Amino acid sequence: MTAHPKPSPISATVDFDAPGVQHGFLRLPYSRDDAAWGSVMIPVTVVANGTGPTALLTGANHGDEYEGPIALFELARSLRPEEVTGRVIIVPAMNQPAFAAGTRTSPIDRGNMNRSFPGRPDGTVTEKIADYFQRVLLPLADVVLDFHSGGRTLDFLPFCAAHVLPDKAQEARAFDLVRAFGAPWSVKMLEIDAVGMYDTAAEEMGKVFVTTELGGGGTASARTTGIAIRGCRNFLIEAGILKSEPHPQPTQWLDMPDGDCFTFAEDGGLIRFCADLGEQVENGQTVAMIYPIGRTGAEPITLSARRAGLLTARHFPGLVKPGDCVAVIADEVEG
Ligand SMILES: [Zn+2]
Repeated sequence: MTAHPKPSPISATVDFDAPGVQHGFLRLPYSRDDAAWGSVMIPVTVVANGTGPTALLTGANHGDEYEGPIALFELARSLRPEEVTGRVIIVPAMNQPAFAAGTRTSPIDRGNMNRSFPGRPDGTVTEKIADYFQRVLLPLADVVLDFHSGGRTLDFLPFCAAHVLPDKAQEARAFDLVRAFGAPWSVKMLEIDAVGMYDTAAEEMGKVFVTTELGGGGTASARTTGIAIRGCRNFLIEAGILKSEPHPQPTQWLDMPDGDCFTFAEDGGLIRFCADLGEQVENGQTVAMIYPIGRTGAEPITLSARRAGLLTARHFPGLVKPGDCVAVIADEVEG
């Protein structure tokens, strides 16, 4: 439901109802100093064949996360209609201005795509893109896969995830797709700050929604890129859209049950990690130390784990600011 009866200013150069492969754009008029009648051009691919479900695949919801865009540019280049029953809509760079700038949020309006839903047809550039997904693309979809990674400021153990939901059938279908994706780790997420998220928009529409955190640091490794490319195909096979042999992978389920999983810095400085991603830590164990950088001879601040578990995410750059998330510790649980 939306309060905006206005049509979206975005027009697609592809026909979402046509069979075959189409490569085109979602074109959003954007008048600016260097292009009076310019546009934001968001690449889109549609691959359709016969009758079946529709998958909507997105990368660069945040512009500095790369496994998703790599997997989706590769899929868009290589997916053939005869492999498909149904439809695959691929948008490798959802927040295209942010992606082109290599930043988490849009350089045009500082919009964080994943806090901009349901968006507005008469809002900022980011809100207009969100509105198009809300009112045009999400209604076309049965299953949705939105790739994330840690970006320039976080690094994650590679995991695929879905939310704990009130509708248990919708939740179970999402966890089936997470399992099929086959990342080394899988997470059942309890969302604590769901307002404005693409995830929430899709789930409230009854769509089966799956997301990832596949690495970080503002780059993508060969390993995490491989996980994304393989996981994307496994997702489409499990969804009943891609006719191919799945490549099932073992996965370890993780749970982040409460706020004690998250450690935040209260001081700025030079961070020294005392455990690495994937290491088991004990409650009270020193996870990191922060050295004040203005003088020598000062004692570092010690950051201790507030629970036992696996170090699942960490701050990435070498300097931290007060309020930064330094570490995330998760429980290993049965799937
Ligand atoms: Zn993200």
